[in-house]
Amino acid sequence: MSSEQGSVAGPPQDEYRILHEADLRDYLAAVPAVAARLGGAAEAWSIGEVGDGNLNLVFIVKGADGGVAVKQALPYVRLVGESWPLPLSRSHYEYLALTHQARLVPGLVPAVLHHNEGLALVVMELIEPHIIMRKGLIAGALYPRFVGDIATFMARTLFFSSDLALTAAKKKEGIAAFAGNHALCKITEDLIFTDPYRVAEQNRWTQPWLDATAAAFREDLDLHAAISRLKLIFLNAPEALIHGDLHTGSIMVTEDSTVVIDPEFAFYGPMGFDIGAVIANLLMAYLASAGHETSSGARRVFEVWLLETIENVWTEFSHEFLELWRTEGHGDAYPLTLFPGPAGAARLEVERQAYMARLFGDTVGFSAAKIIRRILGLAHNADFELIEDPRQRAICEARSLRLARAMMLEPSAFPTIGAVTMAARMVRDWLPDFAN
Ligand code: ADP
Ligand code: MG
Repeated sequence: MSSEQGSVAGPPQDEYRILHEADLRDYLAAVPAVAARLGGAAEAWSIGEVGDGNLNLVFIVKGADGGVAVKQALPYVRLVGESWPLPLSRSHYEYLALTHQARLVPGLVPAVLHHNEGLALVVMELIEPHIIMRKGLIAGALYPRFVGDIATFMARTLFFSSDLALTAAKKKEGIAAFAGNHALCKITEDLIFTDPYRVAEQNRWTQPWLDATAAAFREDLDLHAAISRLKLIFLNAPEALIHGDLHTGSIMVTEDSTVVIDPEFAFYGPMGFDIGAVIANLLMAYLASAGHETSSGARRVFEVWLLETIENVWTEFSHEFLELWRTEGHGDAYPLTLFPGPAGAARLEVERQAYMARLFGDTVGFSAAKIIRRILGLAHNADFELIEDPRQRAICEARSLRLARAMMLEPSAFPTIGAVTMAARMVRDWLPDFAN
């Protein structure tokens, strides 16, 4: 990996400046690996800003032979402006996470072609003709490769950065390498684990229909205890190097390919946060689907596929993760010398199952937290936002909140992923009071 890093890392001493189009063209022309990939004369390259993200600048650059994506961090949150500063170092952590993932799951993340620490810039492989998965799901498209790919992505990136695979020394070096990304963690700590449950200026929800639910969530002390418990796990459990923002807007897809982008929130945190993010976003796609149907039942095949996909994300992930543990569990946790012979092996296997049950409990809780923040907090998602009739949107959102609240407050009612999809299916046709 060090040689790979050496070839893509640019001069770190560059002083930060925002690269505008002409500047960017000159800059890229001077990076041999990038110029070679683009091909032809630099003057002929097309440069366009994509700009659908919340935080950064992303340029798509195309030349005679190929394309690249250029991501530059801004010293503030793009969505909000200069009043909300955010450290440029997030680009460094995104680069570190991308190279870590590329080693473990090549092909499931964009290859990094160049990195300039001073400019907070990453040049990577252009992912095309993929689209953002969330857009595809809103349109009702099915992605048959997705389950296998995301299960592999999560199983390998999480397992190989955990104590099950690493020595304690390596693990602690990893934690240290990402510890400085705390400003991004703080965004999660505030926007997901705190603000939706209190009066916060940036909160919003579909008014007036969800006013009463939003107020109830701000007053429900059992819910406040449950979300605080999850927040403590997020603060307090450096289990593995997690992606940190693994929603369907961070996944690019075609029917036969899946690529995960945007790991700038990466740090050593709880694995269930990543798995829960995937499941939450699929659950929201499912419960938003009624708001996108042109006639009742028109998206049935899609919705059935989504529920199966949710189930398979967990079952395939846990299958792959356990298989890695059995075959490559050479880390300092669970020393094999403590589990000798057939009796030891059997006892360790029981322990593995218990570990997965605990991880599933975390996953259910984080999944619920992710749903609630998208409906009552600052950042909403297009699955709901694009439902034009606000009352219909509120109905879909109320169903999602009902499900999420139950998942957060009654984890014992959701011992399996089948219990989650069953509850989703039941809430799909539930009508909140305001709809009667
Ligand atoms: P942000 O951190 O600001 O959310 P993202 O990394 O999510 O930025 O990128 C914003 C958008 O840019 C994505 O939604 C996607 O459309 C596009 N994009 C990002 N990286 C690539 C890539 N490697 N290839 C193609 N498009 C990309
Ligand atoms: Mg981002």
